[in-house]
Amino acid sequence: MTSTPVSDTLFDRSASDVSVVRVAVPRPLHSAYDYQVPSDSPKPAIGSRVMVPFGSTTTLGVCVADHVQNPHDTLKDILDVLDPAPLVAEDIMQLANWMTDYYHYPLGEILATVLPVAARKGRPAILPKADLWQAVGDAYSGRKAPAQQALFEFLVANGPQGREALQTAGHKPSTLRALFLKHLVQQLSHTQLRALSQDHTPDKPPEPTPEQAEAIAQIVQAQDTYQTFLLEGVTGSGKTEVYMQAMQQILQQASDPDPQVLVLVPEIALTPQTLARFAARFANVGMLHSNLTDLDRFNTWLRCREGHTQVLIGTRSAIFTPFKNLRMIIVDEEHDSSYKQQEGLRYSARDLAAKRGLDLSIPVVLGSATPSLESLHNVKAKRYTTLPLTQRATGASMPSYHLIDMRGQDQSDGLSVPLQRVIRTHLADNAQVLIYLNRRGFAPTLLCRSCGWQATCSACDARLTLHSQPNHLRCHHCGFRAPVHNQCGECKQPALMPVGLGTQRTEEALAKLFPNVPVYRIDRDSVRSNAELEARFKDINSGHSAILVGTQMLAKGHHFPNVTLVGVINADAGFLSPDFRAPERTAQLIEQVAGRAGRAHRPGQVWIQTFQPENPTLRKLISEGYLAFADLELKQRTEAGLPPAAPMAMLRADILQNAEPNKTNEAIDFLNQCKHAITANDGLTCLGPIPAPLGRLAGRLRYQLMILATHRTQLHRALHPLINVKPPRQVRWSIDVDPYDSL
Ligand code: ADP
Ligand code: ZN
Ligand code: ZN
Repeated sequence: MTSTPVSDTLFDRSASDVSVVRVAVPRPLHSAYDYQVPSDSPKPAIGSRVMVPFGSTTTLGVCVADHVQNPHDTLKDILDVLDPAPLVAEDIMQLANWMTDYYHYPLGEILATVLPVAARKGRPAILPKADLWQAVGDAYSGRKAPAQQALFEFLVANGPQGREALQTAGHKPSTLRALFLKHLVQQLSHTQLRALSQDHTPDKPPEPTPEQAEAIAQIVQAQDTYQTFLLEGVTGSGKTEVYMQAMQQILQQASDPDPQVLVLVPEIALTPQTLARFAARFANVGMLHSNLTDLDRFNTWLRCREGHTQVLIGTRSAIFTPFKNLRMIIVDEEHDSSYKQQEGLRYSARDLAAKRGLDLSIPVVLGSATPSLESLHNVKAKRYTTLPLTQRATGASMPSYHLIDMRGQDQSDGLSVPLQRVIRTHLADNAQVLIYLNRRGFAPTLLCRSCGWQATCSACDARLTLHSQPNHLRCHHCGFRAPVHNQCGECKQPALMPVGLGTQRTEEALAKLFPNVPVYRIDRDSVRSNAELEARFKDINSGHSAILVGTQMLAKGHHFPNVTLVGVINADAGFLSPDFRAPERTAQLIEQVAGRAGRAHRPGQVWIQTFQPENPTLRKLISEGYLAFADLELKQRTEAGLPPAAPMAMLRADILQNAEPNKTNEAIDFLNQCKHAITANDGLTCLGPIPAPLGRLAGRLRYQLMILATHRTQLHRALHPLINVKPPRQVRWSIDVDPYDSL
């Protein structure tokens, strides 16, 4: 060997002459292929990204095995090795391999999901230096140059600054560059940056209540072992305080350097407020959410990998972040549906958190006031340990519940007279009222009084929702919009009438009934970003009496100290849905929205309107609380052979409604084929294939095949052959293990 390429120090070349590696590519079906490593190429490590030829194109893949026994003789060469060291860390690779078996999804596509978009596009895994500039020394030693001296002195006086801050202070980029070339300023390294932010003095935590103290102690005690805790804390019980104090002790006591904690939060909860709460206690808090640019995402990911970030707060996909020394995982509001990805790789971040905790031997804390039946089932099976918080941390009492029997009740726009009366009393007391209704728009149906025609979506089996301001019709399933005509689409009579309630209608009705009080509507139409939501909440919390109307956006985790009354407009709809999870979801929403009442000094009340006041599920919920409800519901699910007692998978297939002639049966035929391919075994039940409850969505005909098993191993054995099934060209299909939605 004559000259040594620089890369030799980085790459392992110890392997034999012809080496063959296995590369997973983001393609369906069997997705790992063998490639030869050319003799002049560095050898990729397991977890390195490589460019490989694939069919007539090239693609980016990940090396998943670094020696292959008995390879073919005619293998293509890999084209390029992008990472000298593995980009997919060992524990993430382990998780990815586990997911192929659990979710029956191709490894190559799993790895593509696990990596940030920028990494998938081949961006080098190098963390750019921070945009923070620092003076070298305390006194200006350069030539006479007033602008440069001024900038230098500004940095000495104010500490390290970013480019934007310097420009705002009137300093030119060219001045900074001049100082940089003279070595009078330097850019902070991430390590310096880390040290800098560790200087801050954290807020002093409050004295934990006895229940909090017990929970914290149990979590901290488990710090070097795997254990999943279910922190069952009623609304306002101080779950976040438990997370933070347990984190603090675990981070302090860790024996290895750079200990880290991952905090998963539901999509809607990742607000600046959440971040601020953690940032007041911890140094180097990072945030990972869907609004970041691809590059910011990748950089945050790299900072975690290198140990610069101490606490990462993120939504669902943050579960795939690599860490240098992860010591604990927290999943806040663990029952939240946003933890389940509903397309592509249909994973549950909550379940993966427990799996990752097990792999790393670290504690996992799931927290909720309304735990999922899955987690409660795991407590019963002694897989999870409960930590109860039964009291509100501030000493506030829990709200009282009242049912309003709507049968034969006078009402205007869905607001019964008794509800109007209590609203009036609370407003007279200068308090705030929250009215909850889980439907956007003005009315869910536009009906012809003359012939009974209803406005429906041409692409879905669904009615169009009437929206006002300006008036239009909208499909809540596919997003289709249409103008409202004065005439019926069928009989042409001008007899159209909105039927049912949406938040816009309720907002209008309340504004009419209570003209002197501001009404705030909060739903996805009126609030489009987290920043807007935050601004709205700030205004609301400034104290004046007000009425809040909204959807589940209002129910989640927010603190409204002045709300003393919560009104639930219609509790019935959710309990009547054909989805077996609907009662659970409805009970969670009612309990969560009720939890907004009376969180400060004045006790709260919850009034629920129902046409079915005898509904045993509803009665259980309001007389004995969520956990009693959940216990009953769990018994019923077990008796019915449904999850979580019986593990489930859902196979779905769909095809365009105007596919080539005679092809529309291909979707259901394909599911029948799957049914035959499934390994029959004892304890397995296949239901279907049948048309999905929403049989047509966005112009596609949808079918489903439900598979239930007595044990998880039976389910996985049954599904295994499906990884090699190929659907007809026009059919889209998916396997959903532990589906959240059965519609
Ligand atoms: P949860 O997440 O359980 O709904 P939070 O963690 O938001 O509850 O806490 C509710 C309120 O109680 C917050 O304002 C929090 O600051 C306060 N709080 C929590 N723990 C304590 C404590 N030990 N002493 C005093 N106040 C507390
Ligand atoms: Zn008509
Ligand atoms: Zn539609």
